[in-house]
Amino acid sequence: MVMGDLVDEVDVAVVGGGPGGYSAAFRCAELGLETVVIDADRRLGGACLFEGCIPSKALLHVAAVVSEAERAKEWGVDFGEPRISLDPLRKWKQERVVGKLARGLAGVAKSKGVTVIGGRAAFEDSSTLRIEGETLQKIRFKHAIVATGSEPSPLPGVALRSDRVMDSTAALELPDIPERLLVIGGGYIGLELGTVYATLGSRVTLVEMTDGLLPGVDRDLVQPLQRRIEKLFAAVHLRTKVTGLRETGDRIEAALEGQEPQAFDRVLVAVGRRARSGSLGLEATGVRLTDRGGFIRIDERGRTDDPHVYAVGDVTGEPMLAHRAMRQGKVAAEALAGQPAAFDNVAIPAVVFTDPEIAWCGLSEAQAKSQGMETKVSKFQWAASGRAATIGRADGLTKLVAEAASGRVVGVGIVGPGAGELIAEATLAVETAALVEDIAATIHAHPTLSETLMEAAENLLG
Ligand code: FAD
Ligand code: NAD
Repeated sequence: MVMGDLVDEVDVAVVGGGPGGYSAAFRCAELGLETVVIDADRRLGGACLFEGCIPSKALLHVAAVVSEAERAKEWGVDFGEPRISLDPLRKWKQERVVGKLARGLAGVAKSKGVTVIGGRAAFEDSSTLRIEGETLQKIRFKHAIVATGSEPSPLPGVALRSDRVMDSTAALELPDIPERLLVIGGGYIGLELGTVYATLGSRVTLVEMTDGLLPGVDRDLVQPLQRRIEKLFAAVHLRTKVTGLRETGDRIEAALEGQEPQAFDRVLVAVGRRARSGSLGLEATGVRLTDRGGFIRIDERGRTDDPHVYAVGDVTGEPMLAHRAMRQGKVAAEALAGQPAAFDNVAIPAVVFTDPEIAWCGLSEAQAKSQGMETKVSKFQWAASGRAATIGRADGLTKLVAEAASGRVVGVGIVGPGAGELIAEATLAVETAALVEDIAATIHAHPTLSETLMEAAENLLG
């Protein structure tokens, strides 16, 4: 089948080519189903590859190198002040990182026989999609998988449209390094992209409406990050809302609750993301949305209220993470192929790629308590880790939460460099119901940061 051809009938039509959509499509093809992916951008990768996980992590890697070079001064190694050239940096991110991965995904689709159709899809009924691309097409399907993702939420009550007011997609383009940047929202994006810009030289002011950064995340993990952010950023205002933005020449004047208006060169709005479930014609199907947030309602197999339609990824709600979308995609593909698959994972790891990184999985201490679970909690400070000493990072913490009666590990939180990699072992432990003594008795290579998990477990055994 050639891209752009009229497709009469397929087994599976996947709407949206992000991590949820392409994972579902690849698995469907592996299971012998004729599969097409329709994406408005005419390519596979979605928000994650083109405007999310990958470009942000490329820039965060650059920020980490700059910070590490700064730290090296303490060890008697001075590389001098960094000189940042935006053109090569953008080119590296766009072509060598994003472009290369995009070509890889296109190659996988080809090798698996998955057809990618460029265009915006909407349902005409429970077995037909209408696609508006370069040509108008209709596809009839036995099953559809909706994987249309999410988009940035606008700042409530502030209608200003200006190139200087950016969402994460615009900020990742790195238009310049503004002298003064206002970041609205102290969640994942505000902290990650705020870190990038602050390290590259912007004076960053962050405004968060709740009383702490990363609301909902264990305070023991957030504290070391907050201390670092307060040093790196010019100002952090908690319990504060932005009540207005006004363009004045080449500046944005921001009204912060209870403060004099302040001028910024650019503003990044990062106050959450919302489901992309509108304009899909879902009302022509049996698909139903959740009462709050407009997410598509699904069961553990990815089935919507319409027997012909499945849904995966951000459009189905929190946590809006690429690895959750990918797992859901594979589950939905297997479920519609008649296999006994279900999204029954106990632990979905989460990583905030700041400096230090924060990562967690399973239950936090507070969540376990609110479920009435008696727990034993161990906190291992990295000040006692040999590996942390060798990299000059004693500011980390590994926290282990176990069910008191059984000794089963139910949750782990880690803050420190490399936490995002370390959480993999913890996720396996929670997912496989490992006991504290399993982790304590497992030999961990020395000297590594992974030993902190073993040490935290040993502390619990007394
Ligand atoms: P998406 O990736 O959003 O893909 C949806 C696709 O559907 C898009 O390609 C879109 O063009 C297409 N589409 C939408 N409507 C239609 C239509 N009507 N017809 C045809 N096509 C349509 N997650 C992590 O796990 N780790 C990270 O480090 C991370 N970093 C992030 C950084 C940023 C700045 C952002 C914004 C997000 C980040 N995320 C991260 C979240 C991650 O990007 C999402 O969870 C993930 O992309 C969701 O995948 P998805 O397949 O559900 O949807
Ligand atoms: P978020 O939900 O992580 O954080 C939004 C923050 O904005 C919250 O702290 C909230 O209290 C605050 N806020 C909301 N309204 C506000 C207002 N009017 N004024 C000031 N503060 C306000 O959302 P995000 O940072 O936009 O990221 C969206 C989603 O994208 C994340 O929830 C996550 O699912 C995904 N993401 C993941 C990663 C990762 O995995 N490393 C990175 C980036 C994004």
